[in-house]
Amino acid sequence: MPTLHPRTALSAESVFARISRLAAQHGAVNLGQGFPSGAPPAFLLEAARQAVGTQDQYTAPIGLSSLREAVGHSLGADPTDVLITCGATEAMLVLAQSLYGPRAGDERDEVIAFEPVFDIYAPQAELAGARFVGAALRLDQGGWSLDLEALRSAITPRTRAIIVNTPHNPTGLILTAFELGWVAELARQHDLWLIADEVYDELYYERHGTHSPPAPLRSLAPERTFTVGSAGKRLDATGWRVGWILTPPGLAPSVAGLHQWTTFCAPAPLQAAVAQALVAAAGNGFYDELRRSYGARMRRLASGLSELGFGVFRPAGTYFLTARLPGMDGERLLTEGGVATIPLSAFYRTCPAPAGVLRFAFCKSEAEIEEALRRLEAYLGAT
Ligand code: GLN
Repeated sequence: MPTLHPRTALSAESVFARISRLAAQHGAVNLGQGFPSGAPPAFLLEAARQAVGTQDQYTAPIGLSSLREAVGHSLGADPTDVLITCGATEAMLVLAQSLYGPRAGDERDEVIAFEPVFDIYAPQAELAGARFVGAALRLDQGGWSLDLEALRSAITPRTRAIIVNTPHNPTGLILTAFELGWVAELARQHDLWLIADEVYDELYYERHGTHSPPAPLRSLAPERTFTVGSAGKRLDATGWRVGWILTPPGLAPSVAGLHQWTTFCAPAPLQAAVAQALVAAAGNGFYDELRRSYGARMRRLASGLSELGFGVFRPAGTYFLTARLPGMDGERLLTEGGVATIPLSAFYRTCPAPAGVLRFAFCKSEAEIEEALRRLEAYLGAT
């Protein structure tokens, strides 16, 4: 019998899929995997109804021109530098294949990302034949922050790229323009690519009285930054798998050339629908409403968790909140308390994880959040 390639060692079930499966099995409220429990906006669904039946064949690998234009417009960028992918996950895969890999002999290129880290970056680096290197974010009483020294010391002569995820999953941290300037400066000094995973770019909340959009990394290093975005995150439709990459000037055709060997093109009718919906969302106040409604749920969850004794690290963006309670074990909370969360240890690859910290997704209904808080109170009272 032939055997599978050793790289299938990377095929373990993802923590998100596992927690969702366990949540269903144990009847737990699922504040684990980050997908909205509400429906996408009606204007997106209506656009899709119109597109199915009229836009049914392949698009060019680089993407439908109306969508490239809508994305370019929404990012204040030239649409010729935009390509469309099957979600941001495929965008990250195609960039991994485009930017790093094995080197001569036993050496491998290295790619750095902040830890805690979203789960796809390390396996995608491995699939590309490169090595993943984590640079820990700092966590103290004031919450999460960038540790520039940790980032600087993670750079070696083999480093090819830094992945900057802001707003950051799982912490909700948004890097300031000042911090991004430091990262851009490091990248210039060492001649590195920058991959900006900005899928949560429209999800930012009021903090310390301010409420301004995250600074885009490309504004600080346009010549070396690839910006990744996601229709699923912007439009509450994570299963649609429509994402995009904004490349440095002139590089979109080369990256699209690799994307043609992975999925060829993203689903054509969904590209057409997203193109219409991005234009509509820019003019109809949809993102303001998204922020208002998720912001309200975040504050409710934060105050509920604080009342139960958790130390809450308030997120500046995303739809995730991290909170600490000494001795808290996420697996036990799921099976015995009926509340599914993601233990923060699942987001660490190379750096030590802080104990007792959980990630809660608050892109869920108010009823689910209230029920989760009730169950947590009962669980904590009983243990
Ligand atoms: N982005 C989502 C999260 O962080 C889920 C990703 C996935 O399940 N592939 O929870």
